[in-house]
Amino acid sequence: MPPDTPVANELGIYVCPECKRLLRQEYGLLRCSTCPKDYAIKDGIPDFILEELSESVDPELRRMRFIDRMASIYETRLWYPIVMNLYGGFQSPSLAGVVSIMSQNIQSVKGRVLDIACGPGTYGRRIASPSKEVFGIDISMGMLRQGVSYTAKEGTPMHFARAPVEALPFQDRLFDATLCCGSLHLFADTVIALHEMARVMKPEAILSVFTFAAGRGGILKFHRVREWSRRKHGLHVFELSEMEHYLAASGFKDFQPKLAGSVLTFSARKQAA
Ligand SMILES: [Zn+2]
Repeated sequence: MPPDTPVANELGIYVCPECKRLLRQEYGLLRCSTCPKDYAIKDGIPDFILEELSESVDPELRRMRFIDRMASIYETRLWYPIVMNLYGGFQSPSLAGVVSIMSQNIQSVKGRVLDIACGPGTYGRRIASPSKEVFGIDISMGMLRQGVSYTAKEGTPMHFARAPVEALPFQDRLFDATLCCGSLHLFADTVIALHEMARVMKPEAILSVFTFAAGRGGILKFHRVREWSRRKHGLHVFELSEMEHYLAASGFKDFQPKLAGSVLTFSARKQAA
């Protein structure tokens, strides 16, 4: 066998984010012999982020230690409605409501589902089923560890890896659907993030998103609050027309938006090749 022939790793699915060759599993790490680069497996979670986040130039990554600590309270009943009602207004869907919308968007899907910025698997775990195998990625190791702990207890078919949305450790056209819940507004460049999601999706695969938009509810209905959020927290609150434009520019079609207060849920499909 020539030395550059891909060898299946135990998980059989992760590729090198740089050269996209299948990684080989060796002694608790995933190795790319082409680049060459090693990606550690920490507590069963492959880690594709090699830089020390607390020293990152990206402020979102520097905040990770705080977000890591929030992992255990992230899904509590108190936290979720406060944030949703504050930002999105009293018309905002509940956690169960968002899960229900996401489930409906991908109900006909059978196969692999990618959960972008999955946190502790808040949405992915509730959508995973014998016909839907979910692969979650997030940049917070604390959130991912919490997800592994939940799925171990629940026996949910969901896998976790630490990776940024801009460099996914998956081959092209792998996924039958992608979820992106509560994070699209946080990515530094929306089109780059969407473009990378499109890369790993099959043609006609469904993208199902929950994010915020300039709607009629919560504090996000105020233009000044949206401007302040963007300046202060890098929170990108979308206009519907802007979202449709970003989707078309990154390889998606059939934008189907629903606005409840300032909470935007939508589905779209990857354009055919
Ligand atoms: Zn490589």
